[in-house]
Amino acid sequence: MLPFIRSDLAQLTAYAPHPNSTDGKPIESVIDRLDTNESPFDLPSELKQKLAWIYQETIETNRYPDGGHSVLKEAIAQYVNESADLTQGAIAPNQISVGNGSDELIRSLLIATCLGSEGSILVANPTFSMYGILAQTLGIPIVTVGRNSEFEINWVAAQAAIETTDNPPIRVVFVVHPNSPTGNALTSAELKWLRSLPQEILVVIDEAYFEFSQTSVVGELLEKPNWVVLRTFSKAFRLAALRVGYAIASPEVTAVLEKVRLPYNLPSFSQAAAILALQQRHLLLQLIPLICAERAKLTQALTQYSVLKVIDSAANFVYVQTHHQAQHSELLPKLAQQLRCRGTIVRLLSSGLRITVGSAEENLRTLERLQVALQTIESND
Ligand SMILES: *Cc1c(COP(=O)(O)O)cnc(C)c1O
Repeated sequence: MLPFIRSDLAQLTAYAPHPNSTDGKPIESVIDRLDTNESPFDLPSELKQKLAWIYQETIETNRYPDGGHSVLKEAIAQYVNESADLTQGAIAPNQISVGNGSDELIRSLLIATCLGSEGSILVANPTFSMYGILAQTLGIPIVTVGRNSEFEINWVAAQAAIETTDNPPIRVVFVVHPNSPTGNALTSAELKWLRSLPQEILVVIDEAYFEFSQTSVVGELLEKPNWVVLRTFSKAFRLAALRVGYAIASPEVTAVLEKVRLPYNLPSFSQAAAILALQQRHLLLQLIPLICAERAKLTQALTQYSVLKVIDSAANFVYVQTHHQAQHSELLPKLAQQLRCRGTIVRLLSSGLRITVGSAEENLRTLERLQVALQTIESND
């Protein structure tokens, strides 16, 4: 260990986006990456051409980007208002903060709330791993609670943890709506609990999959000074390569996010792409019903296997478990490995497999390969 490096970083390993994808050589040539919940569809080529033109004609690469993201924030606010059920007025551009992916916003929120032994965070596992990973890199303690068989947060345990954790106290609760990896949206009981949390606790509701679920808490934000909603261009908007995410919150919270972020956190090209994606949202989001229909087909087909338990998803992925806890640790790693060597990469988690809904062809291949994989595992046993 280098003597000038913080000792708590010694136990951490760098985040690997496709942790298992390099072991075992695929025997099939068509590789389907269904482990990171991206859209299966690239930007349409007419939009790429438009973006290339914008790059060519309007971006001076010797100049710093717009550090205030003014045009983008205005476009985001308009989109948020159009797609939300707002009875109490509208979201203003100063209620938006933009990040280099929502990952950056998660880190900014952690810096703004918990850094320097000021607070701990609470998450309900299984959930998005980045909250815990980023908290660890900042030396912020993580309190975890579980979920019930429907994957609802054990909010009784969460409430107890909030009441008993001090030194440092819990300052932020992170939830995903709908949750990754399990795909379930927040229930009214969970929302009721989140509404009951005191003003001293920031509630972060990550709506990365909003365009698929069409369920949002943005309508409540204007009355909730301690709530933040996170969204991203990485999933439904097909811009994962360009790293654009945003937070929606009270002007007081976004002002703090603006303070702690890097001054030029978002390249001009990424800003231009996100603005174009919003202008062309009707074209881009047209494919959402198709992905949801594919999700239904995939779920239905997976349900045919008696050994598998498939959870209904409101997002662009499905979560697969086995019916008996004992089978989890046996079957799922083998299944992930068998799928991988046939060219389908899925996400293996300790409690299940998360499979991104791909294009119709990809999903057919997933099902074909899964069938062979299960047969192979059975005949090897
Ligand atoms: C994919 C995802 C994000 C998106 O992160 P970016 O940094 O914007 O790419 C955020 N939250 C959750 C829960 C996700 O699954």
